[in-house]
Amino acid sequence: MYRIMINPGHGGNDPGACGNGLQEADVALNIGKLIEKYLKAVGYDTKLFQFDGLQTICDTANDWNADLFVSIHCNAGGGTGTETYYYQGSANGETLAAYVQNQIVKSLPVVNRGVKYANFFVLKYTDMPAVLVETAFIDNANDARLLRDRQDDFARAIARGISDFYAFPKPDVVDLPCRH
Ligand SMILES: [Zn+2]
Repeated sequence: MYRIMINPGHGGNDPGACGNGLQEADVALNIGKLIEKYLKAVGYDTKLFQFDGLQTICDTANDWNADLFVSIHCNAGGGTGTETYYYQGSANGETLAAYVQNQIVKSLPVVNRGVKYANFFVLKYTDMPAVLVETAFIDNANDARLLRDRQDDFARAIARGISDFYAFPKPDVVDLPCRH
């Protein structure tokens, strides 16, 4: 059974970005709980962990031997749309990011900002394929409405993206995590 660690961003003393009456940590936690529900329903082993310390998040994922790591965030800073990050050089991370991104942009009226790489702490210091989803911009009125009213759609899309990763591995992707 695959182990999926879901990390809603921020939390504790760190609310994350705020806008349009929403706080990132709350939105991310709500979406994370829904992702967990959908993954459990189809048989994945899940761990939901929100914490305001990045090293602890990575240690938790690594100690649990997670097969995949998904961090949920809201963007801010004046843009609009969805983007999904992976750690540079991680072929599996890139594949997972593409599946998650595709599912979100297919099921929600968001701008597709694409799949990108970054050396974010939680991507760099987790040992398994990892992605960080910037669901939408909390400081954009249209995006914020989706973050408030369509949390279930974000969660379903992200859960489907994770299932796609295992269902349709690209032929050129090697060393897929395997746990039976
Ligand atoms: Zn964030």
